[in-house]
Amino acid sequence: NKFVALKNRIEGAPLESDLEIKETSLKRSPNEAQIIVKNLYVSIDPYQLNRMKSLCSSHSTTKNASQVKLGQVVAAHGVGRVVASGDERFKKGDLVVGHLGWEEYSVINTSTADGFLRKIGSSEFPPSYYLGILGISGLTAYTGFFNVCKPKKGDFVFVSAACGSVGNIVGQYAKLFGCYVVGCAGSNHKVDHLKDELRFDDAFNYKEETDLESSLKRYFPQGIDIYFDNVGGELLEAAVVNMNMFGRIVVCGVISEYTNKRRSAPNMLDVIYKRISIQGFLLVDYMHLFEEFMSFTCEQLRNNKIQAIEDISKGLESIPSAFVGLFNGSNVGKKLVQLE
Ligand code: NDP
Repeated sequence: NKFVALKNRIEGAPLESDLEIKETSLKRSPNEAQIIVKNLYVSIDPYQLNRMKSLCSSHSTTKNASQVKLGQVVAAHGVGRVVASGDERFKKGDLVVGHLGWEEYSVINTSTADGFLRKIGSSEFPPSYYLGILGISGLTAYTGFFNVCKPKKGDFVFVSAACGSVGNIVGQYAKLFGCYVVGCAGSNHKVDHLKDELRFDDAFNYKEETDLESSLKRYFPQGIDIYFDNVGGELLEAAVVNMNMFGRIVVCGVISEYTNKRRSAPNMLDVIYKRISIQGFLLVDYMHLFEEFMSFTCEQLRNNKIQAIEDISKGLESIPSAFVGLFNGSNVGKKLVQLE
């Protein structure tokens, strides 16, 4: 059973050489309350970097996460097929989604919280969707936008990392809801994709802008009502300056700070005088909205009102480069690795 392990703790941006492919023998028959899953797709996510750093407790985003152990498999969301089961709730052949790992096969203890797995009962959508638009990314976008940002029709919405997994879905929901949406991304190809394929009202390449504050003024002459922040840093600072009275900022992620020690320093006088709400967000607080999210999003997919953007690499060996690519913007949409 081949798997991807962490070779050393990571400071700054990850390198492919921080990870290694290892192999171990696979147990053939599961105990009671254990299942063996052949992994079909594994998710590649920015938060995993924070679990690979040395000082988990000093970083607010990692306080809630468990640290990846050196030399052991990196835990990850995945979709797989049950190949052997000691738990009567799962049968050989069942398709499941949940906590698996960057490995060919996962042996899961179904009785522990870590073994959280859900059966995928329907074949209406491709299995990979359950890691992106019908999974963590979609639920993050749905609850972060609708429940935290509390949008009103006609609101002016700004989304960063807008061609990424969460960002593209936020923009699509906001358009569906009747907002004016501008996204930023790190390449012209992504900008074209946002405008031409996803029908964002506008988009720009933040890497080509010299002064983000005035760029946002240009894209939002009437100001920003909602900023869905995936990035932190200078984009957050520039957004605060351009927020409208009673504007709402949801801090979903601060990826620019995962690889860089510079912390964002928004203008707090602006926050006070404009009564801006800045709310940190963690998906775990919104799991109870899963069914509502699924029924809404499946309906939009059925009616072609929303689309799944996936970026799929093949083979376990491609995981290190797929992961490193998240931090230099290589991915367009949900980054996955297909193992079969
Ligand atoms: P993405 O698919 O958006 O991938 C990451 C993207 O971030 C890259 O493609 C890149 O796009 C952009 N990026 C990378 N480095 C930087 C940088 N230094 N400055 C600006 N942009 C950068 O990942 P996800 O959609 O999975 O996650 C988006 C954010 O949401 C992350 O911060 C993640 O941690 C967070 N998140 C939070 C959750 C929560 O519960 N709070 C749950 C899930 C995700 P580009 O080309 O635009 O630079």
